[in-house]
Amino acid sequence: MPELPEVETVRRGLEQAMLGRTFTGVVLRRGNLRFPFPDGFATHLLGRKIESIRRRAKYLLLDLDDGRIILSHLGMSGRYTLFDAEKVKQFETSQNIDEHSRFGTATGFDGRHDHVEFRFDDGSVAVYTDPRRFGIIDLIEVGEEQIHPLLETLGPEPFGDWNANQLAKKLHKKTTSIKVALLDQRVVVGVGNIYACEALHRSGIHPQRQSKTLVRKDGKPTKKLHLLHENVVQVLEQAVEVGGSSLNDFADVNGTLGYFGHHFQAYDREDEPCLKEDCGGTIERITQSGRSTFLCPRCQR
Ligand SMILES: [Zn+2]
Repeated sequence: MPELPEVETVRRGLEQAMLGRTFTGVVLRRGNLRFPFPDGFATHLLGRKIESIRRRAKYLLLDLDDGRIILSHLGMSGRYTLFDAEKVKQFETSQNIDEHSRFGTATGFDGRHDHVEFRFDDGSVAVYTDPRRFGIIDLIEVGEEQIHPLLETLGPEPFGDWNANQLAKKLHKKTTSIKVALLDQRVVVGVGNIYACEALHRSGIHPQRQSKTLVRKDGKPTKKLHLLHENVVQVLEQAVEVGGSSLNDFADVNGTLGYFGHHFQAYDREDEPCLKEDCGGTIERITQSGRSTFLCPRCQR
């Protein structure tokens, strides 16, 4: 499942390819993904220009020149593949392109899961592929991103002015484990399973530790919580830097796979030695809220 760094990578890729482009065609090969496409979606986009591409948590927001916004979420397995005009030509065939994706050899699954095709005035095409169809593509009005049911409960972004004091405020009464709290999008957005495991390992905090024990009596963050805040930001930033991790069938907009996965210290390393200097512990896997947690019981308290 794409996590925040992957989505940020996608955002940057889409920005490079689509900014200032005008839609000349939209092909929808089915009526829905996780939700039905809005009425008249394809028609509405014709002639509209993309003015900016933003990200809120794991949602992509494509601002159009008429004050509407395309809201897109990659779900479990969604991805965009971009084809410039030259490449599009290479995929031209005589078959009915509205029924079958031409791009299957590049997008995978023989093109069976290429549900949406966005065509632009420079001859380029963006193909949205999503085998599991948990993704979202919707059209909203500007301003609606603040009150949209999917977006309004989202907590702070991990980049920018988010700090340890804000984190302490969210945690000081929480009796749930810190790992589960980090995954709660109301606490902070975009920290998925992998990066929660990694940040806790780096910080030497046991994933089952009660959240409120990381906050002082006066409501201020403990030293450990300061460290955790720093490490959450750091693991996410590093992942963005290397272009997002590659897990399952996720690929970034260019179809290339990232490689942050090779740098995991704890995640997916069950029974392997802890990589912290002088620790000597062994990584264990436990289950929390139905999800795997990887930890070193020796150096995480
Ligand atoms: Zn260790």
